[in-house]
Amino acid sequence: MEKILIFGHKSPDTDSICSSIVMEKIAKHYGLDAEAVRLGNINKETEYALNYADIQPTREISDVLEGQKVILVDHNEKDQSVDGREKSEIIGVIDHHRISSFETSTPLYYISKPYGCTSTLLYEIIKKENIEIDKQMAILMLSAIISDTLLLKSPTCTQNDIDAYNELEAFLGIDASQYGLEMLKAGTDLSIYSADEVINLDAKEFEANNKKIVIAQVNTADIEDVFVRKEEIEFAMEKQIADKKLDLYVFLITDIINTNSKVIALGEQKEIIEKAFNVKLDENDSALLEGVVSRKKQVAPPILEIL
Ligand code: MG
Ligand code: MG
Ligand code: MG
Repeated sequence: MEKILIFGHKSPDTDSICSSIVMEKIAKHYGLDAEAVRLGNINKETEYALNYADIQPTREISDVLEGQKVILVDHNEKDQSVDGREKSEIIGVIDHHRISSFETSTPLYYISKPYGCTSTLLYEIIKKENIEIDKQMAILMLSAIISDTLLLKSPTCTQNDIDAYNELEAFLGIDASQYGLEMLKAGTDLSIYSADEVINLDAKEFEANNKKIVIAQVNTADIEDVFVRKEEIEFAMEKQIADKKLDLYVFLITDIINTNSKVIALGEQKEIIEKAFNVKLDENDSALLEGVVSRKKQVAPPILEIL
């Protein structure tokens, strides 16, 4: 039987990695030959979760061959997906994002809900289908929910996410908020990364009106820890703008303790930020966005609307 590849988006986050591994287990439950793979490096936060669950990192791929059967988790947009995706056969999508630049030539399972996390969707499927859950799966799903909802504090968090979080916490018998804070903090140590790596840790490309933008995001316990590196970060951003012919590059430094973000915006269209968030960019091309933590719900929509 032909092997199915399961993967999340490029610059994979904890949800993309953990949900792909859980989806592999679900696929195997139904007798499918499936392998979770990834489209980029595993970040420190995800590494913490995988270590805790005692799970090896998945295999990295960079493109797919003609006719490869794939299941997408945690994304659907072409620019965020595997290179050469048009050659593949998408047999399933499990996602919680807007649907954009997505089309297939064959019918497929497409499961999308406006939840805070893909793993919440997977958890509900597992429960409904009476699939046996083990500790590793529980840790993976709990970690993904903690990551995507910033410990249930993000405006993307729904009651479904909270219910899944509580049930997984009870199943594991751990203090999820304590575990979660440790996991999130593990992801905030950026000192080992070059500026190029920092802006690519969690970067997503979007297209609207023939304009191309990137919105990148990092988590921190103190915005200044990252902002002091502004010069080299801006240099890296300018390089990406030139290389990818971007109209706008938005870099968000998100304070996971106080749930605010500082934005740095560069590119032809940087004034869009002022309109989208009703702020003034200062001489550093930056502004504080009070209460903003979610790219998906609070940052991308107002920018894409104006673009
Ligand atoms: Mg994600
Ligand atoms: Mg997600
Ligand atoms: Mg994310």
